[in-house]
Amino acid sequence: MALRVEHDIFLVRQRGREVAAAVGLEHQDQVRLATALSEVARDLLQTVDGADVTFAVDHDARTGRQLLRVDLAPTRPLPGGRYEPRSGAVARLVDMLGVTGHGGDTVVRMSRRLPAHAPALTPERLAELRAELASNAPGTALDELAAQNAQLINALDEVRSQRDELAVLNAELQETNHGVMALYNQLTEELEETNRGVVALYAELDEKSAQLRAASESKSRFLANVSHELRAPVTAIIGLARLLADSASDPLTAEQARQVGLIRSSAADLLSLVNELLDLAKAESGRLEPNWTEVDLHGVFGQLRGTLRALSNRPEVELVVEEPPAPATVRSDEVLLAQVLRNLLHNGLKFTERGEVRLRAERQDDRWSLSVSDTGVGIPPELHERVFEEFYQVPGTTRVGGTGLGLPYARRLVTLLGGTLELTSEPGRGSVFTVVLPAGGV
Ligand code: ADP
Repeated sequence: MALRVEHDIFLVRQRGREVAAAVGLEHQDQVRLATALSEVARDLLQTVDGADVTFAVDHDARTGRQLLRVDLAPTRPLPGGRYEPRSGAVARLVDMLGVTGHGGDTVVRMSRRLPAHAPALTPERLAELRAELASNAPGTALDELAAQNAQLINALDEVRSQRDELAVLNAELQETNHGVMALYNQLTEELEETNRGVVALYAELDEKSAQLRAASESKSRFLANVSHELRAPVTAIIGLARLLADSASDPLTAEQARQVGLIRSSAADLLSLVNELLDLAKAESGRLEPNWTEVDLHGVFGQLRGTLRALSNRPEVELVVEEPPAPATVRSDEVLLAQVLRNLLHNGLKFTERGEVRLRAERQDDRWSLSVSDTGVGIPPELHERVFEEFYQVPGTTRVGGTGLGLPYARRLVTLLGGTLELTSEPGRGSVFTVVLPAGGV
């Protein structure tokens, strides 16, 4: 099409819309392209006295879609070889608007992609469209003005319906906001209520643990008092029985001597129970304060070796006290530590028929690991924690004597010394009791 006079602007616009409709652009896009085209046409008519307008269909290599291209070849070279639409909004009406080519071949080009669902434009179909468009006589400026008005009314209608939609959306959004706020408030309330519940629960727990502590303290006090009161009469019984059996006293019959012997050994058992109870009660009541010193393990081990050798009266069981590796010092309470180890070694000797009972010390970084292992009867895994309970004795082991207070007492002492006492054992293969202590004390 030739664009030479003002009237041509209408024709170019009209044709642009027709072509856009024919190649499958949607209604809105037809109007956009036609509007952009008439704006550019007006610009070119004013600046370079017109242009030759060509409509073409191209293939967009990037998207694989077809696009409608309009080239406006100016009748005179563009000033500075450049073109800027007077209204910046024009460029937004199409996908591309710009200048291509050089010198005399410069054209102003605009293009718009066809929708993906538009029918493919074969050369045959294009020939048909060309014939159809040629048969349409171009309308008058008045026709185009009427068409433009109709488009404007449509566009206004659309804007109004979009505004209404927006209002509805806004209302919905507000409602959703209300809902979210209500939910938030409800959640906050629930959370506060839960918090109140938790606080109350903690208060109750505190109260319960205070009660428990009080009960445990009164138990310890009771044990301590009773044990203390029992010790004197039991010691007296032992003394008296010894006197009775003494060779300086009146001779006893064999039966009497046997009975006195029974009294003595029963009283001795009772005394050791009373002593152990007293120890445990003391440790539990927190009245036992470790006397922290730099303990020489070498010395402690030597002492244990000496005192316990006397206890190991089975030739089939060897007592091995290894030399602790130097520097063999630990910050601890020597008496309490020796008591724990003696207790464990004593147990080992009690529950081992043959093999060995071994005490070994190992230094691991900042801790000492002191283990007492034996090759005795062992303890079933499910009882590994129970043997640390007061008075618990593994069924079938009671005949060797004891009170079931040694291990709980030992664990209490080790805890007091800032360490742990653990057991690994397998029935029939032996047991290992391990005391782990911080080398620097607590
Ligand atoms: P006691 O030795 O006075 O019975 P303990 O508290 O020292 O009390 O030990 C509790 C129980 O744990 C023992 O009765 C025994 O059944 C078991 N036990 C302790 N040490 C060993 C061990 N080295 N080997 C096998 N069983 C053991």
